[in-house]
Formats: sequence, C-alpha cells, structure tokens
Amino acid sequence: MALIECSECGISISDKAVNCVKCGAPITSENNSSGARLFTTQETAKKFKLHLIITAIMFWLGLALWMINVNNFENRSIVVVGQLMFYTGGFFYVVTRCRIWWNHG
Ligand SMILES: [Zn+2]
Repeated sequence: MALIECSECGISISDKAVNCVKCGAPITSENNSSGARLFTTQETAKKFKLHLIITAIMFWLGLALWMINVNNFENRSIVVVGQLMFYTGGFFYVVTRCRIWWNHG
C-alpha cells in the first residue's frame, strides 16, 4: 500500500482510498503524475501573470479616477466607479498573489 498526497489539502493518504479522509476530494491516478502537474503549473503561471497585470491596472486606474474626481461633487458616480475599481482590483490582486503562492509553494 503506497501513500500519496491529496491534491486538495496535501495530507498523505492511501492510494487505495477513493476519497481523501480529511477533505473528501476524490483520489485519482492523476495525483501521481508529476509530468502533467508541471505542465499545468507553467500554464497557470502565465494565466496568473495576466491576472496580476489586469488587476494592478484596475487598482491604479480606479485610484486615479477616485483621486482626480475626489472634489468633483457634481458627478459622484465617477468616484464610485473609481472606488469600485480600486477595491475590486486590489482584492483580486491579493487573491491572485495568494493563488500563485499556493501553486508554487
Ligand atoms: Zn484532502
């Protein structure tokens, strides 16, 4: 009986198990194939970089919109749009950074 790592939570479980004892994730033979995993990591890294760029642009553009129009009391909606972009961009930037850290250790 060999022990493999759960792809979801990372604990060691029997390769005979159908589901992870801790998180219940289904255990497949794919968990053992490191070649496929490497390829996926490289592909997702590209995707994450794109996400980082998009969220960073959103963050700074939102901040700029907000700051430029902070004294514009006639058109408050543009400030709200700026704030929304700032918070959404900032939030997803952090989320993407966490996911990169999670995927690459
Ligand atoms: Zn698990």
